[in-house]
Amino acid sequence: MNMFVVIKRKHKEWRKIAKRERRRRFRIQKARIREYFAKECSQEYEKWLKEQDNLEKFEYDQIEKSNMQEHAKWMEAEKNTMEQWNILQERKRHQLQEYLQQEAKLKLEWELEQKRKKEAEEKLKEIEEEKKKQQQIFMSKLEQFLAGDSTEPPPELLISHETRPNVDNCPFFLKTACCRFGDQCSRNHRYPGISNVLLAPNFYVHFGLNNSNFSEYDTDVMLEYEDSDTQKEFLEFFNDVLPEFEKFGRVTQFKVCNNYEKHLRGNTYVEYAELRCALAAYRSLHCRWYGGRQLSLQFCFIDSWKNAICGLASRRRCPKGRACNFLHVFRNPRRFYEDYKFEHIRSVNMPHFKKNVSIVKQLT
Ligand SMILES: [Zn+2]
Ligand SMILES: [Zn+2]
Repeated sequence: MNMFVVIKRKHKEWRKIAKRERRRRFRIQKARIREYFAKECSQEYEKWLKEQDNLEKFEYDQIEKSNMQEHAKWMEAEKNTMEQWNILQERKRHQLQEYLQQEAKLKLEWELEQKRKKEAEEKLKEIEEEKKKQQQIFMSKLEQFLAGDSTEPPPELLISHETRPNVDNCPFFLKTACCRFGDQCSRNHRYPGISNVLLAPNFYVHFGLNNSNFSEYDTDVMLEYEDSDTQKEFLEFFNDVLPEFEKFGRVTQFKVCNNYEKHLRGNTYVEYAELRCALAAYRSLHCRWYGGRQLSLQFCFIDSWKNAICGLASRRRCPKGRACNFLHVFRNPRRFYEDYKFEHIRSVNMPHFKKNVSIVKQLT
């Protein structure tokens, strides 16, 4: 009984041991399997990690490469932009420089123009002052002469003025004391200091003369005026003005132009028998107001009325019409002063003009 128990006990222990052993082996096997799998897994993982690393590196390289390309592009674009900007700035600088140069040029031109204008004004003022001074001297000498008994005028009154003393005389001015170019004429105009003849430029004013909208060559129009209202109005003028001039002495010629040309339009010529009378008329009537206009008188020399007056106009045959540079004159009433057609050249009767040819002063 005891023996059996012992054996029984031994078997139980053995089974226990075997069971334990079996569990141990199982554990070992399991550990080996786990270790194996762990080992295998680790290799896969490492492989995967390596692949991941490679992928990541590749991706990084790609990104780096792309970045570098983008950077290069950006740098190129930046370089182009900078170049464009520099070009633009250079252009702007250039434009600004040109603008400033232009401004400076304009300013300089403007300043020079202002300076020139100022100088011209000052020069004109000087000339005016000088003229005024000369006129004062002239008037004072004229007063002295008129107050005295001398038949010889003082030399100050005999000073002629010439516009261009070194060139030929203007043929129109020489004959009519007028020229369409005024003192800008390329020929010489000679103004006597004093003379028997007074000229009042543009003195007779008439609507028909001032509003000449007719054909330049339509000479009949002018003659129609003369024959109708214009002539009538001229007679009024004649009857008003001639007595005013006759107050100072005997008038030997009185002619009023009916030319349309501005330099001759309404010009009134008055000639006195005596020089002293002409001077007295000048002293009293020059700058006097007549019919709302200031009368301006000047001494002039008419060598021959026959040469000054257009002979064709009186016969209504002047081919120049309104452009004629000779005097087309109104018919005076009662054929007053018509005898000029039979006159001689009068230089012998104008001693004061011819005698003092050496006293010449150029107009400034
Ligand atoms: Zn001229
Ligand atoms: Zn004519």
